[in-house]
Amino acid sequence: MGMENMATILYVEDNPENRLLVRRILMAEGFTVVEAQNAYEALEKVKTLCPDLILMDINLPEMDGYTLTARLKALHQLAGVPIIALTANVMRGDRERTLEAGCDGYIQKPIDVDTLPVQINRFLLEANKG
Ligand code: MN
Repeated sequence: MGMENMATILYVEDNPENRLLVRRILMAEGFTVVEAQNAYEALEKVKTLCPDLILMDINLPEMDGYTLTARLKALHQLAGVPIIALTANVMRGDRERTLEAGCDGYIQKPIDVDTLPVQINRFLLEANKG
């Protein structure tokens, strides 16, 4: 806690309240947070930014997080960058669907202030090991 993480997180989320909450939590932990409000903004941002991890809301307007994840996973410059789904979907099979889309992990909403940074650090560590 309180360490400078130095990692850059791209957070794709259409809900401004969630963006504010996650930004506050992650910035307090020393992460750099870059936000995209929709899939097209995310695709635009990764042209110039290579994040250490992408946090992906699944329920996005126009292009959902499953489709966007598949598109991002096809970009060679993002090879090895973990994409973690963030979703309120708790239906049976949703976790499998995020993994099929190419997500490397899954964090369930509602966002927990204490566990989110721990989960993100764990995914970053796993990505660096691989
Ligand atoms: Mn959403």
